[in-house]
Amino acid sequence: MTETSKLETLINSLSIQPGIGKKSAQRIAYHLLQRNRDGAKSLASALLDAMEHIIHCQRCRNFSDNELCNICSSNKRDASILCVVESPADVKAVEDTGFGGMYFVLMGHLSPLDGIGPDELGLDKLSAILQEGKVSEVILATNSTVEGEATAHFISEMVRKQGIKISRIAHGVPVGGELEYIDSGTLSEALAGRREI
Ligand code: ZN
Repeated sequence: MTETSKLETLINSLSIQPGIGKKSAQRIAYHLLQRNRDGAKSLASALLDAMEHIIHCQRCRNFSDNELCNICSSNKRDASILCVVESPADVKAVEDTGFGGMYFVLMGHLSPLDGIGPDELGLDKLSAILQEGKVSEVILATNSTVEGEATAHFISEMVRKQGIKISRIAHGVPVGGELEYIDSGTLSEALAGRREI
């Protein structure tokens, strides 16, 4: 039995990344060894630091350095509006729009076959936040996939019982989009979700 060399271990570790196959992993490994050992060392220490110290915010479940994230601990946010998203990357996307409310991050979507139910999505925590009485509107910004829609539906039933206004993000024509190139599913969503102007 041959022992795995350090180079092979490095290549195998790099290829755990989605989108990085064996060939790309090899190229990255050779590049780092030949040209950027210092950069690689700081990458390694940043990875280690992040993996060991980034936790989930106790309130919204987003990634955070502290028990409460910067958004949950800020007093400049509108605490009456809460946006529910599937992932931390979605928080970043909504933040980039200038949204000034609060978030709740499901860290996934309902997927009974994979054993992901309301508990795994932290819905008891969401319910507790709503019971505090500060939130007057919940925006469901889960993905426009079958699972995302099912999750939004489930949460909407839960929120409705608590008597809080609930809305779903609109789906439809992208900004700058031309109708003739839009698929019929998207266009019919856009028609169904039309608003008065
Ligand atoms: Zn938070």
